[in-house]
Amino acid sequence: MRQVTGPVSKQAWSPDKLRQQFPILQREVGGRPLHYLDNAATTFSPRCVQDAVAHYENHSRSNVQRGMHQLGIEATDAFEAARGSVARYLNAASCDEVIFTSGTTFGVNLAAHCLGQSLQSGDEIVVSQAEHHSNFVPWQQLCQHYGVRMRLIPVLANGSLDLSGLDQVITERCRVVAVSQISNVTGSITDLQTITRQARRHGALVFVDGAQAAPHGPLDVQALDADFYAFSGHKCYGPTGIGALWIRSPVLASLPPFLTGGGMIERVDIQGTRYASGYRRFEAGTPPVAQAIGLGAALDWLMTLPWRGIRAHEQALSRQLLAGLSQVGGLTLLGEAAAQDRAPIFSFDIEACHSHDICQILDGYGVALRGGHHCAQPLMQALGLVATSRASIAVFNTDADIAALLCGLHDAVETLR
Ligand code: PMP
Repeated sequence: MRQVTGPVSKQAWSPDKLRQQFPILQREVGGRPLHYLDNAATTFSPRCVQDAVAHYENHSRSNVQRGMHQLGIEATDAFEAARGSVARYLNAASCDEVIFTSGTTFGVNLAAHCLGQSLQSGDEIVVSQAEHHSNFVPWQQLCQHYGVRMRLIPVLANGSLDLSGLDQVITERCRVVAVSQISNVTGSITDLQTITRQARRHGALVFVDGAQAAPHGPLDVQALDADFYAFSGHKCYGPTGIGALWIRSPVLASLPPFLTGGGMIERVDIQGTRYASGYRRFEAGTPPVAQAIGLGAALDWLMTLPWRGIRAHEQALSRQLLAGLSQVGGLTLLGEAAAQDRAPIFSFDIEACHSHDICQILDGYGVALRGGHHCAQPLMQALGLVATSRASIAVFNTDADIAALLCGLHDAVETLR
């Protein structure tokens, strides 16, 4: 079993130095500087990530885990080194617990599919009402398919989870609890400790959707006491089409495969197939090698950032944004009111202004926001909303981005009312 090791030296950091590492930040939109605040959807890659992908493509491109030649060996080494980077970033106990996926959605589907076969009638699965559809629909489908009851952790008026009745929702019938660590709509941080404690009391497994938490600094899945942790590379400064699913070793060993085919077998006979052990059982077919190498580079890069300074910077921007939003008449902000109690993801509804109109007007200012239901319609239904506008901050954002957003927003509201 390969262990997770490796020293990390921190890079000297300033917002300007950091911005220089992102080629795309040089571009303009409609003749104006780009103010990209849609990072919760997808963020940009620094040059070192692009270089790592280009190096594989131009130097070692070949298949992995089967090459008998120099290029195949180099590609496999780089691919497995990337798995090591994921394991280090998550503080997994071993690289063997890390499965490359195409992203969070794939990770949820893998877990739901593999767990389904062990469900029995009378079992229950618990998700929250604030989940992204990716961490909602696969469980809902599973419940419908196996005749199992899906129960919901409700939300408060601001969209944060209401854990006051948790012992009524997670009971002895519960087999799996699936929740996000940070909401992609409200920026609320889930109290995972309380949820895992209640799940453990009844022997339920815990699946954590880390899509919005993983971009905000190295994690410790062992301390979380969860069983599954899924995230996406493209929200973590890595390529699209890649992500990872961590599964605690004993749980991983107990699961049947998801997809079958080449690469996931120990032996195939005409009579039947013996599956490979560890993560290999879940990686059928040729994996997205270049993307995995890019993800490894992105996480290595994230581990060089001085997170104390970055968080202080993100909080200063959050305070600036919150102060500005509080000046907009008829604006309702979802999530916690104070910058230090939340992640830098801000959804708001403005009376008499549709979010699509707001986003379109702001695009004319070079400001990229997200508008809509954010793939969280059950949450929107609970809050009596159809859509919100959302600004989400990344490590390269500056006060100029927030100022541009607030300036554009005032003009948008004046135009739309
Ligand atoms: N969960 C959450 C909380 C998300 O924010 C997202 C992406 N918006 C997903 C799951 C799905 O991620 P992906 O599309 O990369 O699979």
